[in-house]
Amino acid sequence: MAQRCDIEQALATLLRPDTFRDYGPNGLQVEGRAEVKKLVSGVTASLAFIDAAIDAGADTLLVHHGLFWRGQDGRLTGWLRERVARLIAHDVNLFAYHLPLDAEPVFGNNAQFGMRLQMSADARFGEQDLGFIGPAGPWRTATGLAEGAAQALGRAPVCLAGDGRALRRVAWCTGGAQGYFEAAIAAGADAFITGEISEPQAHLARETGVAFIACGHHASERYGAPALAAHIAERFGLEHRFIEIDNPA
Ligand SMILES: [Zn+2]
Repeated sequence: MAQRCDIEQALATLLRPDTFRDYGPNGLQVEGRAEVKKLVSGVTASLAFIDAAIDAGADTLLVHHGLFWRGQDGRLTGWLRERVARLIAHDVNLFAYHLPLDAEPVFGNNAQFGMRLQMSADARFGEQDLGFIGPAGPWRTATGLAEGAAQALGRAPVCLAGDGRALRRVAWCTGGAQGYFEAAIAAGADAFITGEISEPQAHLARETGVAFIACGHHASERYGAPALAAHIAERFGLEHRFIEIDNPA
């Protein structure tokens, strides 16, 4: 058992949320009970996830995508009311870390994603240094890398193979980081991997020769929250379980 405030402090020390400009609040988003025994991690605080975690006996949730985002109008109505109501009715804490969890160098989404693809970064790039870049590891071509990603993630990626060059440097950033493609090219990447693709990236891959691989937003961000939660659970002697809610995106 641990105190919620001690867990909050440990997460803040590790993730340094105050050093990021983010799209929503990082840290404790919904306050539940003060004593924590069972931590459940997940990608997104959807209603299905919250219900499954409560069924599993969770008193504290740790996710990458929390409940509150810039652009919401602040009303607790409809689906958002349902999610919050469930948490409060069961006195469950919700911790959410967005960009700080992408960036964290050991347990974060980018670090854990790179590990699944046998790559580790030796530099960062892009806005707020969220992008990771490093040697291509075992991958010689973009199509080989895309096949490796399909095996590692269990989901076929969208691959624009560029000009088919031999890979020396690969850049990656999990989730909806397709807008980082030009920064990855400028940083010297021969291929860039992220979760999502938008229309312009296909043309950029063809015209610059740099490969663009989209693995799925959810698929690329399944690893940070459970790695971080497992670390916190071990440190504080808590039970931990990751609950996957399937998402085709
Ligand atoms: Zn995301």
